[in-house]
Amino acid sequence: SPTRFSVIIVGAGISGITAAKVLAENGVEDVLILEAADRIGGRIRKEQFGGVTVELGAGWIAGVGGKQSNPVWELARQSNLRTCFSDYSNARYNIYDHSGKIFPSGIAAHSYQKAVESAIQKLRNQESSSSMSNPDADAETPSGPKTPIELAIDFILHDFEMAEVEPISTYVDFGDREFLVADERGYEHLLHNMAATFLSTSDTRLKLNKVVGELQHSRNGVSVKTEDGCVYEANYVILSVSIGVLQSHLISFSPPLPRWKTEAISNCDIMVYTKVFLKFPRKFWPCGPGKEFFIYAHERRGYYTFWQHMENAYPGSNILVVTLTNGESKRIEAQSDQETMREAMEVLRNMFGPDIPDATDILVPRWWNNRFQRGSYSNYPIYVNHQLIDDIKAPVGRIFFTGEHTSEKFSGYVHGGYLSGIDTSKALLEEMRADKERKSSENQSF
Ligand code: FAD
Repeated sequence: SPTRFSVIIVGAGISGITAAKVLAENGVEDVLILEAADRIGGRIRKEQFGGVTVELGAGWIAGVGGKQSNPVWELARQSNLRTCFSDYSNARYNIYDHSGKIFPSGIAAHSYQKAVESAIQKLRNQESSSSMSNPDADAETPSGPKTPIELAIDFILHDFEMAEVEPISTYVDFGDREFLVADERGYEHLLHNMAATFLSTSDTRLKLNKVVGELQHSRNGVSVKTEDGCVYEANYVILSVSIGVLQSHLISFSPPLPRWKTEAISNCDIMVYTKVFLKFPRKFWPCGPGKEFFIYAHERRGYYTFWQHMENAYPGSNILVVTLTNGESKRIEAQSDQETMREAMEVLRNMFGPDIPDATDILVPRWWNNRFQRGSYSNYPIYVNHQLIDDIKAPVGRIFFTGEHTSEKFSGYVHGGYLSGIDTSKALLEEMRADKERKSSENQSF
Protein backbone atom coordinates (compact mmCIF):
# COMPACT_ATOMS: atom_id res chain seq x y z
CA SER A 1 0.00 0.00 0.00
CA PRO A 2 1.22 3.53 -0.72
CA THR A 3 2.89 5.64 1.97
CA ARG A 4 0.44 7.62 3.98
CA PHE A 5 1.47 11.17 4.73
CA SER A 6 0.28 13.18 7.69
CA VAL A 7 -0.48 16.12 5.44
CA ILE A 8 -0.51 16.76 1.69
CA ILE A 9 -0.27 20.41 0.72
CA VAL A 10 -1.62 21.28 -2.72
CA GLY A 11 0.23 24.29 -4.17
CA ALA A 12 3.66 25.75 -3.48
CA GLY A 13 2.93 29.47 -3.46
CA ILE A 14 3.61 31.62 -0.41
CA SER A 15 0.69 30.16 1.58
CA GLY A 16 1.54 26.52 0.85
CA ILE A 17 5.25 26.92 1.60
CA THR A 18 4.50 28.85 4.79
CA ALA A 19 2.00 26.20 5.91
CA ALA A 20 4.62 23.47 5.36
CA LYS A 21 7.22 25.43 7.31
CA VAL A 22 4.91 25.86 10.31
CA LEU A 23 4.09 22.14 10.26
CA ALA A 24 7.80 21.25 10.12
CA GLU A 25 8.52 23.58 13.03
CA ASN A 26 5.88 21.75 15.02
CA GLY A 27 7.33 18.33 14.35
CA VAL A 28 5.07 17.33 11.45
CA GLU A 29 7.67 16.39 8.86
CA ASP A 30 5.96 13.69 6.81
CA VAL A 31 4.38 16.23 4.53
CA LEU A 32 4.10 16.07 0.76
CA ILE A 33 3.79 19.24 -1.34
CA LEU A 34 2.24 18.80 -4.79
CA GLU A 35 2.70 21.73 -7.17
CA ALA A 36 1.16 21.87 -10.65
CA ALA A 37 3.74 24.21 -12.17
CA ASP A 38 7.41 23.45 -12.77
CA ARG A 39 8.47 25.91 -10.08
CA ILE A 40 7.48 27.14 -6.67
CA GLY A 41 6.15 30.66 -6.11
CA GLY A 42 2.70 30.69 -7.70
CA ARG A 43 1.70 34.30 -8.12
CA ILE A 44 5.15 35.46 -7.06
CA ARG A 45 6.97 35.07 -10.33
CA LYS A 46 9.88 36.71 -12.04
CA GLU A 47 11.00 36.63 -15.62
CA GLN A 48 13.96 38.02 -17.55
CA PHE A 49 12.87 40.80 -19.85
CA GLY A 50 14.86 43.45 -21.66
CA GLY A 51 17.98 42.65 -19.69
CA VAL A 52 16.48 42.85 -16.20
CA THR A 53 14.27 40.84 -13.85
CA VAL A 54 10.62 41.85 -13.95
CA GLU A 55 7.83 40.66 -11.65
CA LEU A 56 4.83 39.26 -13.53
CA GLY A 57 2.83 38.79 -10.33
CA ALA A 58 3.30 40.51 -6.98
CA GLY A 59 5.61 43.48 -7.35
CA TRP A 60 5.21 45.54 -4.20
CA ILE A 61 5.57 44.94 -0.53
CA ALA A 62 2.52 46.89 0.50
CA GLY A 63 2.09 48.17 4.05
CA VAL A 64 5.43 49.32 5.44
CA GLY A 65 6.41 52.01 7.93
CA GLY A 66 3.63 51.62 10.50
CA LYS A 67 3.64 50.68 14.16
CA GLN A 68 3.51 46.97 13.42
CA SER A 69 5.97 45.40 11.06
CA ASN A 70 4.68 43.64 7.96
CA PRO A 71 5.99 40.05 8.18
CA VAL A 72 6.77 40.03 4.45
CA TRP A 73 8.89 43.15 4.92
CA GLU A 74 10.78 41.25 7.63
CA LEU A 75 11.31 38.30 5.29
CA ALA A 76 12.53 40.67 2.59
CA ARG A 77 15.01 42.21 5.01
CA GLN A 78 16.30 38.81 6.09
CA SER A 79 16.77 37.92 2.43
CA ASN A 80 18.44 41.26 1.68
CA LEU A 81 15.94 41.84 -1.06
CA ARG A 82 16.59 45.02 -3.01
CA THR A 83 13.53 47.28 -2.99
CA CYS A 84 12.75 50.88 -3.84
CA PHE A 85 10.21 53.24 -2.35
CA SER A 86 7.33 53.86 -4.67
CA ASP A 87 4.62 56.49 -4.39
CA TYR A 88 1.76 56.39 -6.84
CA SER A 89 -0.09 59.25 -5.22
CA ASN A 90 1.84 61.55 -7.58
CA ALA A 91 0.30 59.88 -10.61
CA ARG A 92 -2.68 62.25 -10.44
CA TYR A 93 -0.39 65.16 -11.38
CA ASN A 94 0.79 63.39 -14.52
CA ILE A 95 -2.49 62.83 -16.31
CA TYR A 96 -2.18 63.12 -20.09
CA ASP A 97 -5.02 63.74 -22.51
CA HIS A 98 -5.14 62.29 -26.03
CA SER A 99 -3.24 65.28 -27.44
CA GLY A 100 -0.34 64.89 -25.02
CA LYS A 101 -1.25 67.76 -22.72
CA ILE A 102 -0.91 67.24 -18.99
CA PHE A 103 -4.01 68.31 -17.09
CA PRO A 104 -3.18 71.29 -14.84
CA SER A 105 -2.60 70.07 -11.29
CA GLY A 106 -5.54 72.13 -10.00
CA ILE A 107 -7.99 70.39 -12.33
CA ALA A 108 -6.52 66.98 -11.59
CA ALA A 109 -6.62 67.53 -7.82
CA HIS A 110 -10.19 68.79 -8.02
CA SER A 111 -11.39 65.83 -10.11
CA TYR A 112 -9.58 63.53 -7.74
CA GLN A 113 -11.22 65.05 -4.69
CA LYS A 114 -14.64 64.80 -6.32
CA ALA A 115 -14.06 61.15 -7.21
CA VAL A 116 -12.93 60.31 -3.68
CA GLU A 117 -16.00 62.02 -2.22
CA SER A 118 -18.36 60.22 -4.55
CA ALA A 119 -16.66 56.89 -3.84
CA ILE A 120 -17.05 57.50 -0.09
CA GLN A 121 -20.71 58.34 -0.63
CA LYS A 122 -21.19 55.18 -2.66
CA LEU A 123 -19.55 53.13 0.10
CA ARG A 124 -21.82 54.69 2.73
CA ASN A 125 -24.83 53.76 0.62
CA GLN A 126 -23.52 50.25 0.29
CA GLU A 127 -22.84 50.04 4.00
CA SER A 128 -26.40 51.01 4.79
CA SER A 129 -27.86 48.60 2.26
CA SER A 130 -24.98 46.15 2.93
CA SER A 131 -25.33 44.93 -0.62
CA MET A 132 -22.37 43.72 -2.65
CA SER A 133 -20.42 46.17 -4.73
CA ASN A 134 -19.85 45.89 -8.40
CA PRO A 135 -17.56 48.69 -9.51
CA ASP A 136 -18.09 47.93 -13.20
CA ALA A 137 -21.85 48.32 -12.91
CA ASP A 138 -21.44 51.44 -10.78
CA ALA A 139 -19.29 53.06 -13.43
CA GLU A 140 -22.27 52.99 -15.76
CA THR A 141 -24.83 54.62 -13.47
CA PRO A 142 -25.93 58.10 -14.61
CA SER A 143 -24.02 59.81 -11.76
CA GLY A 144 -20.86 57.83 -12.55
CA PRO A 145 -17.70 59.18 -14.15
CA LYS A 146 -18.03 60.20 -17.81
CA THR A 147 -15.19 62.36 -19.08
CA PRO A 148 -11.80 60.77 -19.83
CA ILE A 149 -10.18 62.33 -16.76
CA GLU A 150 -13.06 61.21 -14.52
CA LEU A 151 -12.86 57.71 -15.97
CA ALA A 152 -9.09 57.59 -15.47
CA ILE A 153 -9.37 58.68 -11.86
CA ASP A 154 -12.22 56.27 -11.21
CA PHE A 155 -10.03 53.48 -12.57
CA ILE A 156 -7.10 54.48 -10.34
CA LEU A 157 -9.32 54.71 -7.26
CA HIS A 158 -11.15 51.46 -7.73
CA ASP A 159 -8.66 49.24 -9.49
CA PHE A 160 -5.60 50.62 -7.72
CA GLU A 161 -5.55 52.47 -4.46
CA MET A 162 -8.61 51.88 -2.30
CA ALA A 163 -6.63 53.26 0.63
CA GLU A 164 -7.64 56.80 -0.34
CA VAL A 165 -11.28 55.90 0.01
CA GLU A 166 -11.56 53.58 2.94
CA PRO A 167 -8.90 52.68 5.51
CA ILE A 168 -7.78 49.18 4.66
CA SER A 169 -6.18 46.82 7.15
CA THR A 170 -2.85 46.58 5.35
CA TYR A 171 -2.21 50.32 5.68
CA VAL A 172 -3.80 50.68 9.11
CA ASP A 173 -1.83 47.78 10.60
CA PHE A 174 1.47 47.95 8.77
CA GLY A 175 1.79 51.51 7.46
CA ASP A 176 1.00 53.20 4.18
CA ARG A 177 4.33 52.98 2.41
CA GLU A 178 4.91 50.64 -0.52
CA PHE A 179 8.19 49.28 -1.79
CA LEU A 180 8.74 47.91 -5.24
CA VAL A 181 10.85 44.77 -5.35
CA ALA A 182 13.76 45.41 -7.71
CA ASP A 183 16.04 42.47 -7.22
CA GLU A 184 17.62 40.32 -9.92
CA ARG A 185 16.79 37.24 -7.82
CA GLY A 186 13.13 38.23 -7.84
CA TYR A 187 10.48 38.58 -5.15
CA GLU A 188 10.50 34.76 -5.10
CA HIS A 189 13.95 34.83 -3.51
CA LEU A 190 12.34 35.30 -0.09
CA LEU A 191 10.19 32.25 -0.73
CA HIS A 192 13.21 30.16 -1.74
CA ASN A 193 14.96 31.26 1.44
CA MET A 194 11.97 30.26 3.52
CA ALA A 195 11.69 26.87 1.78
CA ALA A 196 15.39 26.24 2.39
CA THR A 197 14.81 26.29 6.16
CA PHE A 198 12.95 22.98 6.00
CA LEU A 199 13.42 21.50 2.52
CA SER A 200 16.69 20.30 1.06
CA THR A 201 17.48 21.06 -2.59
CA SER A 202 16.41 17.64 -3.86
CA ASP A 203 13.79 16.99 -1.20
CA THR A 204 11.32 14.35 -2.39
CA ARG A 205 8.62 15.92 -0.21
CA LEU A 206 8.21 18.60 -2.88
CA LYS A 207 6.91 17.35 -6.21
CA LEU A 208 6.65 19.74 -9.16
CA ASN A 209 4.55 19.23 -12.32
CA LYS A 210 1.91 17.42 -10.27
CA VAL A 211 -1.54 18.66 -11.18
CA VAL A 212 -4.05 17.57 -8.57
CA GLY A 213 -7.29 16.55 -10.30
CA GLU A 214 -9.31 14.79 -7.61
CA LEU A 215 -9.65 14.68 -3.85
CA GLN A 216 -11.46 11.67 -2.40
CA HIS A 217 -12.16 12.26 1.25
CA SER A 218 -13.81 10.43 4.12
CA ARG A 219 -13.70 10.45 7.92
CA ASN A 220 -10.55 8.34 7.72
CA GLY A 221 -8.38 10.27 5.30
CA VAL A 222 -7.94 11.82 1.90
CA SER A 223 -6.67 10.31 -1.30
CA VAL A 224 -5.23 12.71 -3.82
CA LYS A 225 -5.13 11.89 -7.51
CA THR A 226 -2.92 13.75 -9.95
CA GLU A 227 -3.46 14.11 -13.69
CA ASP A 228 -0.52 11.78 -14.42
CA GLY A 229 -2.39 8.94 -12.71
CA CYS A 230 -0.58 8.88 -9.34
CA VAL A 231 -2.46 8.52 -6.06
CA TYR A 232 -1.20 9.84 -2.73
CA GLU A 233 -2.78 9.15 0.65
CA ALA A 234 -2.85 11.46 3.66
CA ASN A 235 -4.59 12.05 6.95
CA TYR A 236 -5.23 15.67 5.97
CA VAL A 237 -4.98 17.96 2.95
CA ILE A 238 -4.21 21.67 2.89
CA LEU A 239 -5.54 23.13 -0.35
CA SER A 240 -3.86 26.41 -1.29
CA VAL A 241 -5.08 26.85 -4.87
CA SER A 242 -6.56 30.23 -5.78
CA ILE A 243 -10.24 31.08 -5.62
CA GLY A 244 -10.22 31.15 -9.43
CA VAL A 245 -8.98 27.55 -9.53
CA LEU A 246 -11.63 26.52 -6.99
CA GLN A 247 -14.29 28.12 -9.20
CA SER A 248 -12.92 26.46 -12.33
CA HIS A 249 -13.52 22.85 -11.23
CA LEU A 250 -9.96 21.81 -12.14
CA ILE A 251 -10.16 19.73 -8.97
CA SER A 252 -13.12 17.45 -8.37
CA PHE A 253 -14.18 16.42 -4.88
CA SER A 254 -15.66 13.11 -3.94
CA PRO A 255 -18.03 13.38 -2.14
CA PRO A 256 -18.72 16.84 -3.60
CA LEU A 257 -18.14 19.91 -1.45
CA PRO A 258 -21.21 20.93 0.56
CA ARG A 259 -23.47 23.63 -0.79
CA TRP A 260 -22.42 26.32 1.76
CA LYS A 261 -18.85 25.88 0.52
CA THR A 262 -19.52 25.94 -3.22
CA GLU A 263 -21.79 28.96 -2.79
CA ALA A 264 -19.15 30.87 -0.85
CA ILE A 265 -16.56 30.02 -3.51
CA SER A 266 -18.78 31.24 -6.31
CA ASN A 267 -19.64 34.46 -4.43
CA CYS A 268 -16.06 35.63 -4.24
CA ASP A 269 -14.96 37.91 -7.08
CA ILE A 270 -11.67 37.61 -8.87
CA MET A 271 -9.61 40.50 -10.03
CA VAL A 272 -7.54 40.16 -13.17
CA TYR A 273 -4.55 42.48 -13.05
CA THR A 274 -2.05 42.52 -15.87
CA LYS A 275 1.27 44.29 -16.07
CA VAL A 276 2.38 44.64 -19.68
CA PHE A 277 6.12 45.30 -20.09
CA LEU A 278 7.49 47.23 -23.07
CA LYS A 279 11.16 47.61 -23.93
CA PHE A 280 12.45 50.66 -25.86
CA PRO A 281 15.74 51.55 -27.50
CA ARG A 282 15.75 54.81 -25.56
CA LYS A 283 13.85 56.72 -22.94
CA PHE A 284 11.33 59.37 -24.09
CA TRP A 285 9.29 59.86 -20.93
CA PRO A 286 9.97 62.32 -18.12
CA CYS A 287 11.96 61.00 -15.17
CA GLY A 288 12.89 62.55 -11.85
CA PRO A 289 10.94 63.11 -8.65
CA GLY A 290 7.19 62.53 -8.85
CA LYS A 291 7.33 61.20 -12.41
CA GLU A 292 7.51 57.43 -11.91
CA PHE A 293 3.78 56.99 -12.57
CA PHE A 294 1.61 58.61 -15.22
CA ILE A 295 -1.93 58.28 -16.43
CA TYR A 296 -3.57 58.31 -19.82
CA ALA A 297 -7.13 59.68 -19.87
CA HIS A 298 -9.20 57.96 -22.55
CA GLU A 299 -12.93 57.76 -23.22
CA ARG A 300 -12.83 54.06 -22.50
CA ARG A 301 -12.37 53.20 -18.83
CA GLY A 302 -9.17 51.30 -18.11
CA TYR A 303 -7.79 51.61 -21.65
CA TYR A 304 -3.99 51.67 -21.11
CA THR A 305 -4.60 54.03 -18.20
CA PHE A 306 -1.89 53.42 -15.65
CA TRP A 307 1.80 53.67 -16.61
CA GLN A 308 5.05 53.30 -14.74
CA HIS A 309 8.64 53.69 -15.87
CA MET A 310 11.27 51.36 -14.48
CA GLU A 311 14.10 53.89 -14.23
CA ASN A 312 13.93 53.97 -10.41
CA ALA A 313 14.10 50.19 -10.18
CA TYR A 314 16.60 49.66 -12.99
CA PRO A 315 18.18 52.87 -14.32
CA GLY A 316 18.85 52.70 -18.04
CA SER A 317 16.56 49.71 -18.57
CA ASN A 318 14.26 51.74 -20.88
CA ILE A 319 11.22 49.73 -19.84
CA LEU A 320 7.66 50.95 -19.37
CA VAL A 321 4.92 49.01 -17.61
CA VAL A 322 1.23 49.55 -18.31
CA THR A 323 -1.39 47.96 -16.09
CA LEU A 324 -4.71 46.68 -17.36
CA THR A 325 -7.40 45.01 -15.31
CA ASN A 326 -10.48 42.81 -15.58
CA GLY A 327 -12.24 43.20 -18.96
CA GLU A 328 -9.25 44.87 -20.60
CA SER A 329 -6.93 42.15 -19.23
CA LYS A 330 -9.14 39.42 -20.66
CA ARG A 331 -9.35 41.24 -23.97
CA ILE A 332 -5.58 41.55 -24.41
CA GLU A 333 -4.97 38.01 -23.18
CA ALA A 334 -7.09 36.84 -26.11
CA GLN A 335 -5.27 38.83 -28.77
CA SER A 336 -1.73 38.60 -30.11
CA ASP A 337 1.04 40.43 -28.28
CA GLN A 338 1.77 42.28 -31.54
CA GLU A 339 -1.75 43.71 -31.48
CA THR A 340 -1.32 44.77 -27.84
CA MET A 341 2.00 46.41 -28.73
CA ARG A 342 0.31 48.28 -31.56
CA GLU A 343 -2.44 49.57 -29.24
CA ALA A 344 0.05 50.58 -26.57
CA MET A 345 2.23 52.42 -29.13
CA GLU A 346 -0.77 54.36 -30.36
CA VAL A 347 -1.54 55.48 -26.82
CA LEU A 348 2.10 56.40 -26.17
CA ARG A 349 2.22 58.43 -29.42
CA ASN A 350 -0.88 60.30 -28.28
CA MET A 351 0.92 61.17 -25.07
CA PHE A 352 4.48 61.75 -26.30
CA GLY A 353 4.16 62.58 -29.98
CA PRO A 354 4.69 60.73 -33.27
CA ASP A 355 8.50 60.66 -33.14
CA ILE A 356 8.99 58.24 -30.27
CA PRO A 357 10.66 54.94 -31.20
CA ASP A 358 8.75 51.67 -31.51
CA ALA A 359 8.99 49.20 -28.65
CA THR A 360 11.45 46.43 -29.41
CA ASP A 361 9.92 43.80 -27.14
CA ILE A 362 6.74 43.11 -25.18
CA LEU A 363 5.77 40.77 -22.35
CA VAL A 364 2.11 40.04 -21.61
CA PRO A 365 1.40 37.77 -18.61
CA ARG A 366 -1.79 35.72 -18.91
CA TRP A 367 -3.08 35.14 -15.39
CA TRP A 368 -6.68 34.70 -16.51
CA ASN A 369 -5.95 31.93 -19.01
CA ASN A 370 -3.47 30.17 -16.73
CA ARG A 371 -5.45 27.15 -15.54
CA PHE A 372 -3.43 27.06 -12.29
CA GLN A 373 -4.45 30.64 -11.47
CA ARG A 374 -7.61 31.85 -13.29
CA GLY A 375 -7.13 35.43 -12.21
CA SER A 376 -4.80 37.54 -10.12
CA TYR A 377 -6.33 37.79 -6.67
CA SER A 378 -9.58 37.67 -4.74
CA ASN A 379 -11.62 40.82 -4.57
CA TYR A 380 -14.02 40.96 -1.65
CA PRO A 381 -16.50 43.80 -1.43
CA ILE A 382 -15.37 46.33 1.18
CA TYR A 383 -18.42 45.74 3.34
CA VAL A 384 -18.08 42.03 3.17
CA ASN A 385 -20.36 39.76 5.00
CA HIS A 386 -18.04 37.96 7.43
CA GLN A 387 -19.85 34.70 6.88
CA LEU A 388 -18.53 34.64 3.31
CA ILE A 389 -14.84 34.58 4.31
CA ASP A 390 -15.56 32.24 7.23
CA ASP A 391 -17.15 29.80 4.79
CA ILE A 392 -14.33 30.16 2.28
CA LYS A 393 -11.71 29.25 4.86
CA ALA A 394 -13.66 26.69 6.89
CA PRO A 395 -12.38 23.12 6.52
CA VAL A 396 -14.55 20.42 4.97
CA GLY A 397 -13.84 17.26 6.91
CA ARG A 398 -10.15 16.59 6.49
CA ILE A 399 -9.61 19.20 3.79
CA PHE A 400 -8.26 22.53 5.06
CA PHE A 401 -8.29 25.66 2.91
CA THR A 402 -5.57 28.29 2.78
CA GLY A 403 -4.32 31.07 0.50
CA GLU A 404 -4.67 34.82 0.19
CA HIS A 405 -8.45 34.47 -0.35
CA THR A 406 -8.86 32.98 3.15
CA SER A 407 -7.32 36.00 4.86
CA GLU A 408 -10.02 38.21 6.30
CA LYS A 409 -7.82 41.27 6.76
CA PHE A 410 -5.21 40.95 4.02
CA SER A 411 -6.80 39.10 1.10
CA GLY A 412 -5.19 39.96 -2.23
CA TYR A 413 -1.68 40.46 -0.82
CA VAL A 414 1.49 38.44 -0.37
CA HIS A 415 1.30 39.01 3.40
CA GLY A 416 -2.32 37.74 3.25
CA GLY A 417 -1.04 34.51 1.70
CA TYR A 418 1.78 34.27 4.23
CA LEU A 419 -0.41 34.86 7.29
CA SER A 420 -3.10 32.51 5.99
CA GLY A 421 -0.51 29.72 5.69
CA ILE A 422 0.36 30.20 9.36
CA ASP A 423 -3.30 30.34 10.44
CA THR A 424 -4.29 27.24 8.52
CA SER A 425 -1.39 25.17 9.83
CA LYS A 426 -2.14 26.26 13.38
CA ALA A 427 -5.79 25.27 12.97
CA LEU A 428 -4.72 21.92 11.53
CA LEU A 429 -2.22 21.27 14.35
CA GLU A 430 -5.01 21.99 16.81
CA GLU A 431 -7.27 19.51 15.01
CA MET A 432 -4.50 16.88 14.98
CA ARG A 433 -4.03 17.29 18.75
CA ALA A 434 -7.78 17.04 19.37
CA ASP A 435 -7.97 13.94 17.17
CA LYS A 436 -5.15 12.29 19.11
CA GLU A 437 -6.91 13.02 22.41
CA ARG A 438 -10.19 11.61 21.09
CA LYS A 439 -8.40 8.44 20.02
CA SER A 440 -6.59 7.96 23.31
CA SER A 441 -9.76 8.46 25.34
CA GLU A 442 -11.54 5.91 23.13
CA ASN A 443 -8.73 3.43 23.83
CA GLN A 444 -8.85 4.11 27.57
CA SER A 445 -12.53 3.23 27.73
CA PHE A 446 -11.65 -0.44 27.10
P1 FAD B 1 -0.62 31.03 -5.22
O1 FAD B 1 0.62 31.80 -5.28
O2 FAD B 1 -1.52 31.07 -6.40
O3 FAD B 1 -0.26 29.52 -4.87
C1 FAD B 1 -1.10 28.44 -5.22
C2 FAD B 1 -0.30 27.39 -5.95
O4 FAD B 1 -1.16 26.29 -6.28
C3 FAD B 1 0.28 27.87 -7.28
O5 FAD B 1 1.68 27.67 -7.28
C4 FAD B 1 -0.41 26.98 -8.33
O6 FAD B 1 0.43 26.66 -9.42
C5 FAD B 1 -0.76 25.76 -7.52
N1 FAD B 1 -1.88 24.98 -8.08
C6 FAD B 1 -3.02 25.44 -8.66
N2 FAD B 1 -3.81 24.42 -9.03
C7 FAD B 1 -3.16 23.27 -8.68
C8 FAD B 1 -3.46 21.89 -8.80
N3 FAD B 1 -4.61 21.47 -9.35
N4 FAD B 1 -2.56 20.97 -8.34
C9 FAD B 1 -1.40 21.38 -7.76
N5 FAD B 1 -1.07 22.70 -7.62
C10 FAD B 1 -1.94 23.62 -8.07
N6 FAD B 1 0.42 41.09 -3.65
C11 FAD B 1 1.13 42.03 -2.98
O7 FAD B 1 1.29 41.94 -1.76
N7 FAD B 1 1.70 43.10 -3.65
C12 FAD B 1 1.56 43.25 -4.99
O8 FAD B 1 2.11 44.20 -5.58
C13 FAD B 1 0.79 42.29 -5.70
N8 FAD B 1 0.62 42.42 -7.03
C14 FAD B 1 0.08 41.38 -7.74
C15 FAD B 1 0.06 41.44 -9.14
C16 FAD B 1 -0.39 40.37 -9.88
C17 FAD B 1 -0.36 40.46 -11.40
C18 FAD B 1 -0.84 39.20 -9.22
C19 FAD B 1 -1.26 38.00 -10.01
C20 FAD B 1 -0.86 39.15 -7.83
C21 FAD B 1 -0.41 40.23 -7.08
N9 FAD B 1 -0.40 40.21 -5.69
C22 FAD B 1 0.26 41.20 -4.99
C23 FAD B 1 -1.07 39.13 -4.94
C24 FAD B 1 -0.12 38.04 -4.45
O9 FAD B 1 0.73 37.65 -5.49
C25 FAD B 1 -0.94 36.85 -3.98
O10 FAD B 1 -1.87 37.29 -3.00
C26 FAD B 1 -0.13 35.71 -3.35
O11 FAD B 1 1.08 35.49 -4.03
C27 FAD B 1 -0.99 34.46 -3.34
O12 FAD B 1 -0.33 33.38 -2.74
P2 FAD B 1 -1.13 32.02 -2.50
O13 FAD B 1 -0.19 31.07 -1.86
O14 FAD B 1 -2.42 32.29 -1.84
O15 FAD B 1 -1.53 31.49 -3.95
